[in-house]
Amino acid sequence: MNELLVVPAAGFGSDLFWARLSRLADERGHLDHPRMLVGFVEPQNRYTLRCERCREPVVQLAVDRAGR
Ligand SMILES: [Zn+2]
Repeated sequence: MNELLVVPAAGFGSDLFWARLSRLADERGHLDHPRMLVGFVEPQNRYTLRCERCREPVVQLAVDRAGR
């Protein structure tokens, strides 16, 4: 899995942000599965949305702090 979803910092954590992640996970076969966003701010603002039931990553995120 090398897909990277870039999200603007301003939208991170917003309702729209979570709705988008939720829909993505649904579409990928994780409907109603518990998910968790894990990651580290350093060094590159990378996060991974994981499915807790399947124990696998759903999508990787990069926060774009330059973009608005
Ligand atoms: Zn799942």
